[in-house]
Amino acid sequence: MMDQIPDVQWQAILQNDAAYDHQFYYAVKTTGIFCRPSCKSKPPNKDNVSVFQNADEALNAGYRPCKRCKPMGQRLPDAEWAEQISRFIEGNYQHPISLQMIADTCHGSPYHLHRIYKRVTGITPGEYVQRTRLEKAKESLCKSDIAISTIAGRVGMPNIPYFVTWFKKSTGFTPAAYRKTYRNPLKKEV
Ligand SMILES: [Zn+2]
Repeated sequence: MMDQIPDVQWQAILQNDAAYDHQFYYAVKTTGIFCRPSCKSKPPNKDNVSVFQNADEALNAGYRPCKRCKPMGQRLPDAEWAEQISRFIEGNYQHPISLQMIADTCHGSPYHLHRIYKRVTGITPGEYVQRTRLEKAKESLCKSDIAISTIAGRVGMPNIPYFVTWFKKSTGFTPAAYRKTYRNPLKKEV
């Protein structure tokens, strides 16, 4: 990182000069984002710009890659990738989800994805799928009168005996007992 941006680099930024891509990256303090010189975003205020020799330096300084010019190519920082994987799971827990499916959608090999996700979040993608399903099932049991068989289907576990066994193993309650205990606690008997 340099305090004074050399004029040749500043001109490259202003002109979106792709010839300088991979030679340096620039970050903008006010947005917290870093870009390739060729990025078509509107020219930043020079006072807020820092220049880095490579993308990792910018990352280490706390900047995030620009979604428009993708200064790291398809390679996302691990934390952001893990977040993308979590969002995919949260949007698809109603359906069967395989690791291969997550890997195909989130662009990575299943092995690599599994390892990075676990390193960032402390749990595996499969465990997060289960956790998400459990939270949704608990919520539906506590906050609605939707039939248990319907809830099972909605959390991606249409095999009801399997759902009941899994739920009991995870919470210590059958779904029916869980509902009886936690549904509308205001009316709970003393
Ligand atoms: Zn950019």
